[in-house]
Amino acid sequence: MEKATALYCPECGEEVANVPPRVWNTGSPRPEHSHLDGEPLCAVMTEEGYRPATPTSRRPNGE
Ligand SMILES: [Zn+2]
Repeated sequence: MEKATALYCPECGEEVANVPPRVWNTGSPRPEHSHLDGEPLCAVMTEEGYRPATPTSRRPNGE
C-alpha cells in the first residue's frame, strides 16, 4: 500500500497531520492541519498577521 501524499510544515519540515490542532483559541478559523503532536503549524507572518503556515507536499530541503 502506498502512503497518501505526505504534507510537511514548510517552516520546520515536520510531517503534517490532516487533523485540526488540538488547541485553537486565537479567534481565527481553525486550520485543517496540525503537527503530528497536535500543535498548530509554525506561524508565518502574513498580511493579516501571524497565521499557521500552509502545508506543502514537498519535503523542505536543508536547514
Ligand atoms: Zn512546523
